[in-house]
Amino acid sequence: MFMKTFIKDLPRFAGQEARISGWLYNKRSSGPIMFLELRDGTGWIQGVVVKKDVSDEIWDEIVKSTQESSVEVAGKVEKHPKKENVFEMQIADFKIIQLAVDYPIAKKEHGPDFLLDHRHLWLRSQKQWAILKIRDAIITAINEYLHQEGFIKVDSPIFTPNACEGTTTLFSVPYFDLGSAYLSQSGQLYLEAAIGSVGRCYDFGPVFRAEKSKTKRHLTEFWMMDAEAAFVEHEENLKLQEGMVRHIIRHCLKSCSMELTILERDTEKLKKADAPFLRLSYDEAIKKLNELGSDIKYGEDLGNDDEGLLTQGSDAPVFIEKWPKNIKPFYMKRDPQNSSMVLNDDLIATDGGGEIIGGSQREENAAELEKRIEEEGMNKDDYEWYLDTRRYGGAPHSGFGIGLERAVRWICGVEHIRECIPFPRTIGRLKP
Ligand code: ATP
Repeated sequence: MFMKTFIKDLPRFAGQEARISGWLYNKRSSGPIMFLELRDGTGWIQGVVVKKDVSDEIWDEIVKSTQESSVEVAGKVEKHPKKENVFEMQIADFKIIQLAVDYPIAKKEHGPDFLLDHRHLWLRSQKQWAILKIRDAIITAINEYLHQEGFIKVDSPIFTPNACEGTTTLFSVPYFDLGSAYLSQSGQLYLEAAIGSVGRCYDFGPVFRAEKSKTKRHLTEFWMMDAEAAFVEHEENLKLQEGMVRHIIRHCLKSCSMELTILERDTEKLKKADAPFLRLSYDEAIKKLNELGSDIKYGEDLGNDDEGLLTQGSDAPVFIEKWPKNIKPFYMKRDPQNSSMVLNDDLIATDGGGEIIGGSQREENAAELEKRIEEEGMNKDDYEWYLDTRRYGGAPHSGFGIGLERAVRWICGVEHIRECIPFPRTIGRLKP
């Protein structure tokens, strides 16, 4: 009797018989021996079948099977004779559930457009599978860390009446008799209200940005985790961000070693990134960049190349803190030491990972915030509810947002963000 199990659990069946359901990834034959690469979503295993050991019927079924056919396979699980921690299945029984004819993704090289057009199938390849697994591990690590630190998940709305940071990068949708609604760019303002109830909270969901950035780091729909905490100021905000990112690194190294190997990620570099993060003020960063030959001017945002230069030679991620107020949103708190700067940070990952987090202490004073809203020419009526959060028990508070796909891109060491989300949405792509 073959017990049904998953490939990941097969080592427990060493020396015994087991049955798995999955897909045929690849097949090679060497005369009367056939080697089948099988996958079931939990892992990968090689099945070996010797013609003389199975009935003609089973042998014929194996010969007929094709790449990506769904199959049911049973046999004895054995330790690989040479490789440590590798197991094989000596196939005794084999059944095709559905025969896949002419699977479009062959083993030859395909261009990115072809693969993206076939994203629904491309997801099955080993590398894409590994990225999906690491993406899931990062989500788990974030949830775990935040709960450890006393945050609870409070979801913010996706249809919003106004922008968090200006309307130029918003997608609008018709909304019944109320005019237009905008798809959320960040749940931050709503979380700032929710901390009045629960103290520390976060949301984790899709956000939408209509920015025309055609880079390897921008999507139009991406997943963001925004966290917000009452009675937390700038220093503690940075500590929370560092703690979370280091927890992500450790969790992925511990639970995704096979996936990181598939992606050929240098895990030594990841291990080294789990060390105290460096810090530069915006002023120091600009000075350093100019010394390194960048033509960035004071008051400008950092470009991709600038972020690369700032982390060059650094093992751990780098915080760039305290930016000029006029290039940052109205809600950021002014630095009491220098009122032309705000108490914010961008966290720049190592190995060309670029910015993965943006955070700040928020302005908690209602009158000051009201002034800023007016200065920015925003409609005060739209923000009355937000101002209420300061009028009734306003308190120092801070928060930050991490772009999930940016974190996935960095941990996986993949070049393009479009591989870091199951079905990417970019300026030029909406399908499949
Ligand atoms: P960038 O300067 O890289 O465009 P940003 O300063 O606009 O990013 P924030 O508004 O601070 O980013 O958003 C918080 C985080 O969300 C960023 O640190 C990043 O990880 C992620 N993020 C922002 N825009 C995008 C995007 N278009 N695609 C994917 N992730 C993004």
